[in-house]
Amino acid sequence: MLNTAIHQKISELQQANRKRTITDVVPLEHGYVTLNGKKYLSFCSNDYLGLAHHASVKQAAINAIDLYGVGAVASRLITGNHPLYQELEQTLATMKHTERCVVFGSGYLANIGVITALMGKGDVIIADKLSHACLLDGATLSGATLKRFKHNNLADCQRQLERYRSQFKHCMVITETVFSMDGDIAPIASLKQIVERYDAVLLSDDAHGLGLPIVHEAQAHIQTGTLSKSAASYGGYVCVDNIFAEYITTAARSLIYSTALPPATIASATVALKIMQSQPQLGEKALDNAQYFTDKMGIEKAVSPIVPLMVGDDAKALALSDYLKEHGFLVWAIRPPTVPPNTARLRIAFSALHKHEDIDTLADLISQWKLKHHHE
Ligand SMILES: *Cc1c(COP(=O)(O)O)cnc(C)c1O
Repeated sequence: MLNTAIHQKISELQQANRKRTITDVVPLEHGYVTLNGKKYLSFCSNDYLGLAHHASVKQAAINAIDLYGVGAVASRLITGNHPLYQELEQTLATMKHTERCVVFGSGYLANIGVITALMGKGDVIIADKLSHACLLDGATLSGATLKRFKHNNLADCQRQLERYRSQFKHCMVITETVFSMDGDIAPIASLKQIVERYDAVLLSDDAHGLGLPIVHEAQAHIQTGTLSKSAASYGGYVCVDNIFAEYITTAARSLIYSTALPPATIASATVALKIMQSQPQLGEKALDNAQYFTDKMGIEKAVSPIVPLMVGDDAKALALSDYLKEHGFLVWAIRPPTVPPNTARLRIAFSALHKHEDIDTLADLISQWKLKHHHE
């Protein structure tokens, strides 16, 4: 019976420390949250620039509700394009140096939408092994053959292309600009060179790079991302050439069969992007905070606001996260299957809002805990 099987699955996950639950958290200003009535400084938010509570971002949402109401009420292809979409898509296209941008309901929907629209049976997708779940889901859903290459390994990517490219009609190589659980950066320019040699296209997901001082000397042919992280709102996007945009608008099922974004969401995302463009110091501060931490800990210098603090063992990662929580800091433990087995870690996400003194305390607490648990 399905019931029995589910009970069994849940108890297996519990035993392996892999069961997930959703915690009730109330977001406050300045990077704080409350959880069960207690206040914590959060190091697990993707609001790297601290824009979720920015006065003009909030006001844009309020104004849009006053003017246009709350819900979008249907798909963009049914009710027509809301006037707010145009400015959002133009702003993104400008930021990404592409001809066009198509905004989707979320980053997940954008990735599965563009991949399934462009790829199909008889095609091959070659994805970085650490690619986000929605990129892999898109690949699976598309019906194309999926191959993986070793994380950020150009030689392995080329090996896969050499081996498989000629057996398939079209080929897409997939990576992320900034990897969500490791904080490291893909060599986009070199990947693009290799990919073009094999008559393939490169898709890179910039979910964690938007608005941050991360310079890529080249752009992927297809740039996807989300408005739910540094843009502090919601929605996803695909930035491409005109011809791709035209086709995606007709063919991406997750665009066509899903309701458009609420006006307030579009308006706040647009203002957040404008702030990103006019205040690059916010992204610089987030990166500076991460580097301040890695310098202090004596670990590899951060190249993005995401710092993985490797623990290895699942239970240990949870214990360290609990210890930090007792001291007023929220840092989530990330465990398999989100990351590979035996690489459980704390994923520390820095933002422009964090203060050096708080980062000092966090680093001290981690060092103390490590000293205490050194021999376990
Ligand atoms: C968060 C994330 C997504 C999904 O974006 P949503 O807008 O939250 O659906 C996609 N790709 C990567 C790499 C992400 O980290």
